[in-house]
Amino acid sequence: MNYLSDRVNNLSESATLAMTRLSRELISQGHDIINLSIGEPDFNTPEFVKDEARLALDQNFTHYPPVNGYQELREAICRKLHRDNNLEYKPGQIIVSTGAKQALANAVLALVNPGEEVIMPTPYWVSYSELVKLAEGVSVLVNADISTRFKITAAQLEQAITPKSKLLMFNSPNNPSGAVYDLEELKALAAVIEKNPQLFVIADEIYEYIIFDGKHESLAQFESIRDRVIIVNGVSKGYAMTGWRLGYTASNLEIAQAINKIQGQITSGSNSITQRAAISAMDRAPKDVPEMIQMIEIFRERRDLLVKLLRQIPGLKVDLPDGAFYVFPDISSYLGKKTSDGESIADDNALCMYLLKEARVALVPGSSFGNDKCIRFSYATSTEKVAEAAERVAKALAKLV
Ligand code: PMP
Ligand code: GLU
Repeated sequence: MNYLSDRVNNLSESATLAMTRLSRELISQGHDIINLSIGEPDFNTPEFVKDEARLALDQNFTHYPPVNGYQELREAICRKLHRDNNLEYKPGQIIVSTGAKQALANAVLALVNPGEEVIMPTPYWVSYSELVKLAEGVSVLVNADISTRFKITAAQLEQAITPKSKLLMFNSPNNPSGAVYDLEELKALAAVIEKNPQLFVIADEIYEYIIFDGKHESLAQFESIRDRVIIVNGVSKGYAMTGWRLGYTASNLEIAQAINKIQGQITSGSNSITQRAAISAMDRAPKDVPEMIQMIEIFRERRDLLVKLLRQIPGLKVDLPDGAFYVFPDISSYLGKKTSDGESIADDNALCMYLLKEARVALVPGSSFGNDKCIRFSYATSTEKVAEAAERVAKALAKLV
């Protein structure tokens, strides 16, 4: 008897976390797996942040924090938004959550009614489509592939809008493609959003600081739509703080209050020690923190290396991503080929499973990001491992006929 709710039965397991779990299991059984499936910096949190956490413990910040986050942290987030994004928010408009993931979930649940449409440029981050399912919304995919460097145009957005459209889930720099929208591209999208006053936007800016070419631009900078934009950001990527679990939203006051109500019934305020430590992070942009400058330089070197090595593999089409720490090659020329045992590589999932077995490299199939012609490589692991993984993948792909 299946007694679980339809809600959970319809939900997919997070593909990024599933692949990471599988590769951890194989590693613990003694297999020599290179894990390029998880997207998290392999660097440690800077010392000045850890010092604040120790201090917070000594000062007994061990009680329930306010549901929306400590006032000092929300003020620090407002200073950050002013300093880095030239945006003015008041602390009441900020809700601190347990990771950007919870911030996204809160925003989707606060806005989407059953049957309402949520526009999602593909490739999108794995959890977007599942959060929309939880809210009983309908995902409307707008496809961008390697030919447009994984970015949608304003005309595509316009075409996707219907009277049922409620929300656009937008992510730049993008996971999994690394695409970064420039100011002109955003202006064109903002003009379409402006003409459709029923449409709200989640602007997921979690990779804001991990940019190699160009500059991060926020959709919230356009006055005419600002009130309908919910910025989602956090400390996980830019400050190498994935395990601390802290993200936030910046939105209009009404949405902030709605998110606060949801969070107050589900998790309450996020971890008190993490919040105190995050105040110090917010007040120092990664560009002023030597460890973070070094991290981004190393990511750039790895990106260049991985793209160079993948471009040497016959049949792969590889874009040079401007940001985040992923490469998302088009592997479609390998689909339909066979292994030496006669097994068919029917789709991107089969290819990832084959590469896990044959190359001992864990990757994530593109279909979980809404693009089944690509697979995702995360290069947030040591440069040696990235190079070795590319070599192993090249050898394994060469064996397919
Ligand atoms: N958005 C995107 C695009 C991400 O890649 C991630 C990281 N998995 C998140 C949100 C969630 O970040 P956090 O770890 O802060 O929950
Ligand atoms: N951002 C990471 C990824 O996409 C984290 C994993 C997750 O939370 O799903 O791999």
